[in-house]
Amino acid sequence: MYRIARSLELSGLVYNDTKGVTIELQGKEEKSAQFLFRLQSSPDKPPLAQIRSCDVVDIPVIEDEKDFVIEVSDSEGTALSEVTADIATCQDCLREMADKKDFRYHYPFINCTNCGPRYSIVKTIPYDRPNTTMSVFAMCDKCAAQYNDVTDRRFHAQPVACPTCGPKVWLTDNKGNNIKTRTDEAISEAARMLLAGKIVTIKGVGGFHLAVDALNDKAVKRLRERKRRDHKPFAMMTDAIEKIREYAVVSELAEQVLKSPQSPIVLLPKKADAAIAPSVASGVNTFGFMLCYAPLHYLLFAQNIKVLVMTSGNIADEPLICKNQIALERLGGVADAFLMHNRDIYRQVDDSVVHFIAEELVLVRRARGYVPTPIFMEESCRQDIFAAGGDLKNTFCFAKQSQPATRLAGQVICSEHIGDLEDAQVYHHYINSIEHLQKLFEVEPKVVACDLHPGYLSTQYALSLPGLRAISVQHHWAHIASVLVEHGITGPVIGLACDGTGYGTDGAIWGCECLIASLEGFERFGHLAYYPLAGADKASKEAIRPVLGLLKKTYGDDFELNDFGWLLEKIEAGADKKTKIDKRKSKIILEQLEKRINTIDTSSLGRVFDAVAAMVGLGSYNHFEAQLPMALEAIVEEGIEDYYDFELICEASKPLQLNLRKTIKGIITDIQEELPAGVISAKFHNCLAAALLEMAKAARKKTKLDTVAISGGVFCNRYLTNRLVSLLKKNDFHVLFNRDVPANDGGISLGQAAIAAHSVNKES
Ligand SMILES: [Zn+2]
Ligand SMILES: [Zn+2]
Repeated sequence: MYRIARSLELSGLVYNDTKGVTIELQGKEEKSAQFLFRLQSSPDKPPLAQIRSCDVVDIPVIEDEKDFVIEVSDSEGTALSEVTADIATCQDCLREMADKKDFRYHYPFINCTNCGPRYSIVKTIPYDRPNTTMSVFAMCDKCAAQYNDVTDRRFHAQPVACPTCGPKVWLTDNKGNNIKTRTDEAISEAARMLLAGKIVTIKGVGGFHLAVDALNDKAVKRLRERKRRDHKPFAMMTDAIEKIREYAVVSELAEQVLKSPQSPIVLLPKKADAAIAPSVASGVNTFGFMLCYAPLHYLLFAQNIKVLVMTSGNIADEPLICKNQIALERLGGVADAFLMHNRDIYRQVDDSVVHFIAEELVLVRRARGYVPTPIFMEESCRQDIFAAGGDLKNTFCFAKQSQPATRLAGQVICSEHIGDLEDAQVYHHYINSIEHLQKLFEVEPKVVACDLHPGYLSTQYALSLPGLRAISVQHHWAHIASVLVEHGITGPVIGLACDGTGYGTDGAIWGCECLIASLEGFERFGHLAYYPLAGADKASKEAIRPVLGLLKKTYGDDFELNDFGWLLEKIEAGADKKTKIDKRKSKIILEQLEKRINTIDTSSLGRVFDAVAAMVGLGSYNHFEAQLPMALEAIVEEGIEDYYDFELICEASKPLQLNLRKTIKGIITDIQEELPAGVISAKFHNCLAAALLEMAKAARKKTKLDTVAISGGVFCNRYLTNRLVSLLKKNDFHVLFNRDVPANDGGISLGQAAIAAHSVNKES
């Protein structure tokens, strides 16, 4: 603004306060019009600036005003947007880094106002260097001159540094003994080791990565063994789009997203003959790729590296590590060497993951690059609210009380992906993160929103907070509410929420729901007919449990295990050694179902996916969440329009019920007739899309609503979601889905916050 105002010879001032940015301008009318235009358009608009709204008012002429000045920010409270996300290295910095004459030539921590770390290095507000992990590095004269020059690209870039004054890189062995201490030598030795098949831990922006050559299957397998991650696909990194194109299909939109300042992992369709090591990503039809996003990555790839597996530096599902010493202790048994640096990471932030639904960018994991950018609610918010989220793929959020003088409505700060709270370390990290973000964004919640599930750790934590009013929100209602917030509406809509598990108002486990929902409340219009599921916690891992539950539901009292010996054999044949099931175990489960011992009723669609995947021989165990459903999606044969039969059953004063008896029977017949698994999978997916469409039509008939909001983990399935969205549109529905927050449980905290905000507003 300063630069534009000066160049247009306008006088006035600019400052930040809680309302955002205030600019006072004085000068010729056409020049101030030009100012407004240039403010909102490139090349003058900084790449990271987003103008949400701009109010213009006339004020009286101010005498004796000659210059345009930057005023000290109003200290009455802090602007929410002060702490921004970590941003990938910009083109200007890359150019300088490659320029031998530049004093930051080959410097692995080059950054500027338009790029570099932010959120991951901030300890407290205000966002000034002393409050970041850069405080230990005193700027040299050259850096300080740029930092203080308002016309410079590094004006007030808090992490600014150079080889003389800034952080350094070195390489150690897995005991922490130095191998190389000079930057260029450390990087080239790390590259040499990677190319030789070694595992190298690389310290990055929001944590450590375990890296290995993605073209070397032996090396990738070794990483899997050591990391104790047998199955989950690994993400990869390269330094150029052209390299990604060798292995995966990159659409125009995907290219834009890969190159965006957020630089997420993008899930891309695999190319059939890709030379990527098979053990990088088996059982899925996509590769997760990201481009280099830190200067250090670029310098490493410049050493003839083609493509690396870059997976989070943690063991199994533990939280990310951010301290050098802990990395050595925890990962010393995994990695052969450590490419370290001494710019401390204050907050660990995972890489974000995105994919595309109906040709729109959709987040699957919201973390680096996107957090803590606020999400705006259409409604204002009368009190600060904390939403605790759920227990799986947890995120939490804070809704900030709206400032009366601003046009901005409620701002919600969502945490990055925290993880599964049942891991004690993740739970600990959850509590710490809540406290940190609460301070960072100066929120003082009066209300807490949480899931309805009394057994959730997040619920128990929320209810234990002293002096806060608690609002429990049904899981699937929160899913649908998250879609409403994102699209700036309050409802009612027809909500289709499909996932693995959510506690229902009747004590059953819900998971395929048609809700007539608004932020005010919801009515359960329809659902998948309940089927019995034995074994509580084990049921989400062992597919034999939903298989037997669904068979029991389908064949009723006529069900004889002996008639299905062939099916059990087929399931066993697809199972890996560690997770074999036997007849004896199946008998015990069946007995449990019959006597209803440790058995619950469920409408979970996720478990139906597990069962079908197992029946067609894709495995019998979810080693990670949704492994079997993803495997089932991966084999869908394209171009099939056929689908299995299903029934919608309408009983008086009961919700509409989707019964899959005929579907299961159809699948059994097809398996017996040895139809290819890819065809069965397609017919199954198509059946669900058709059934959900019919459910929505029935809801429209009754309510006259024609907007459908879809959410829930099942809609991370691209084939199903694309098909459903297109069917709904063809049938004149207006379709809304999550984009800014994940459709999986990573999105429910936003929905909880919106429902709580609405409830509070209504009262006051
Ligand atoms: Zn830059
Ligand atoms: Zn310097």
